[in-house]
Amino acid sequence: MGRIDGRVNRAVDAWLEWVPKWEPAAYRARTRLCRRCTGSPVLVASGIPEGTPHQVKHALVSRVQRIVDRLVEEYTEEHLPMLHSELSGADMWRVGGYDPAAGLDPEYDGLDPDPEPAEAGQPFLFTLAGLAADVQPEPPLPRPPLSQQEKDQLRREIELADLRAADVGNEVCFALLGHRPRIVSAIDRFVEPQVRAMLDELSRHLEPPA
Ligand SMILES: [Zn+2]
Repeated sequence: MGRIDGRVNRAVDAWLEWVPKWEPAAYRARTRLCRRCTGSPVLVASGIPEGTPHQVKHALVSRVQRIVDRLVEEYTEEHLPMLHSELSGADMWRVGGYDPAAGLDPEYDGLDPDPEPAEAGQPFLFTLAGLAADVQPEPPLPRPPLSQQEKDQLRREIELADLRAADVGNEVCFALLGHRPRIVSAIDRFVEPQVRAMLDELSRHLEPPA
């Protein structure tokens, strides 16, 4: 638990350093739902007001999501040999240039210009669905098909990884609750005034000519 607290603390610190640099100029209204943010328990736990621009919310969700991903990776590496070898095979392939978003700052991580709509009936974000989607494309080298026994083991390991992800997600959200005051005050101080100025500007343009 202490380990997660420390990571969440550092993620919030990094986000708080980034927030004052946020400008609406860099902000584009989205017409489609963001898979990562929609229904995210991280957003609820963070206390970020609903009307906050998506990019600001997304930056925090991405940083926190990285903690969950990393901890689940560590768990997989230690305890789930079969899933680990599946995923590291997929990773090796990604290094080959498949993933155009690799190495992006977390603020832009997952900000696909044209993301797929959120899947209905899958509101919980801490699943391996995202990883599975990455593994989906065919690997470059053909390999022998898995035996039934191997398939069963892989399925069990995926279930365990999902359970672990849910546990870690809950712990991370719980840790985040303690940071609500400073998250909310950063929004009030750095984001709200800019949003208000934008709305004022907009309403000036909308006023009928005298
Ligand atoms: Zn988002």
